[in-house]
Amino acid sequence: MEMTRFSCPHAKQCGGCQLLQLPYPAQLEKKQRLVEELFGQYTPVQPILGMEHPVHYRNKIHATFGKGRNGRVVSGLYQPSSHRLVPIEHCLLEDEAAAEILAVVRQLMDQLHLPPYNDVTHTGLIRHLLIRRGYFSGQILVAVVTGQAAFPARKQFAEALRKACPQITTLVQNINPGRTSMVLGGQQRILYGPGYIEDQLCGCTFRISAASFYQVNPIQTQKLYQAALDMAGLTGAERVIDAYCGTGTIGILAARQAGQVLGVELNRAAVTDAIANARRNKAENIRFVCQDAGQFMVELARQGQTADLVLMDPPRAGSDQAFLSSLAVLGPKKVVYISCNPLTQKRDVEYLARKGYRVKAAQPVDLFPHTDHVENILLLVKQSPRPPRERAARRPQPRQKADSRPGRRTQEKSKL
Ligand code: SAH
Repeated sequence: MEMTRFSCPHAKQCGGCQLLQLPYPAQLEKKQRLVEELFGQYTPVQPILGMEHPVHYRNKIHATFGKGRNGRVVSGLYQPSSHRLVPIEHCLLEDEAAAEILAVVRQLMDQLHLPPYNDVTHTGLIRHLLIRRGYFSGQILVAVVTGQAAFPARKQFAEALRKACPQITTLVQNINPGRTSMVLGGQQRILYGPGYIEDQLCGCTFRISAASFYQVNPIQTQKLYQAALDMAGLTGAERVIDAYCGTGTIGILAARQAGQVLGVELNRAAVTDAIANARRNKAENIRFVCQDAGQFMVELARQGQTADLVLMDPPRAGSDQAFLSSLAVLGPKKVVYISCNPLTQKRDVEYLARKGYRVKAAQPVDLFPHTDHVENILLLVKQSPRPPRERAARRPQPRQKADSRPGRRTQEKSKL
């Protein structure tokens, strides 16, 4: 593992790498301690899975544009919670192929007089550029996010970009006219290529569109998925729910070892990708539903359905009560909870503990080196209700006996 301390000239202004001042092993230790503080009371925490070369791991690059002092287009990131653009030419985390593409786009914007969009005055044209590179496939998707549908010199821009960067396999225009901090809008136009890239993870091939979620660190994602599947311990017959399934990645991998899998995801583009991914990987025992995961679970519970395993991987805010209470009604024996925010994971686990689930394993994975983000997998197992005979034996004893052994009943009660 790399022992060196990394440095970045933009670190102070950008603020994206909160742990950069720590050598990598110390970063891992810090994340390990955090997970232990939260979950160590329930189970021993496995050593965090770190990255061997923790640089340039981000396969998704997002840049915003502005004008520099000399009037030329600059690209970078907004400072946290502000509209101040920090110009960045080389980022320690981002895929190196992206820097080259970004430089060409800046040049083309100058040449073709395509003004950067201004988030305060809501004028200008190009809001963001999103670059996604398949780590194993090398395929590259570029999405130009515009503030309006009209894109003057669109054809010229596409042709010049294609010529200067033949490594780009698909280019899309995403239209985001909203007064919002969200990067992507709801409309998209394909300028060339298929409109998505394909990449490989754990021996399967997945297609990913601009608007679909895809884990940003593919090397570590494989470790994450493998650890989650190991915890699941599937035997071939189980009924599995993959909640918050994105493009169906975990569910499709699980389908190889399960009876049937049901994936649920709110984002329509991701569900379209997931359906194509199932077909692409010949997974015939998986279905996908485009719905709020909580509502979906409420409906399953109402229909009296059951599941053996729920895999869940919600966004940072964690899950909601509709989801968790219905999960408890469905009563899977196991829950594998993947989280990118152990604080909301803890909150949700405390709720599930009241419904009879116990944390049996914890495995942190470092998906985001140099940042303070922590990814953690938990295995929860449903406590089986005591068999009737044992229950009868524990009924309150005749007064006399109970009185003769004070403390016994209280002791038993505390175990319940
Ligand atoms: N398991 C996937 C995706 C995890 S990210 C993977 O590893 O790639 C979380 C996903 O939850 C995103 O795809 C997001 O679109 C989806 N999501 C967010 N809120 C949701 C909700 N209320 N119901 C269902 N899915 C939701």
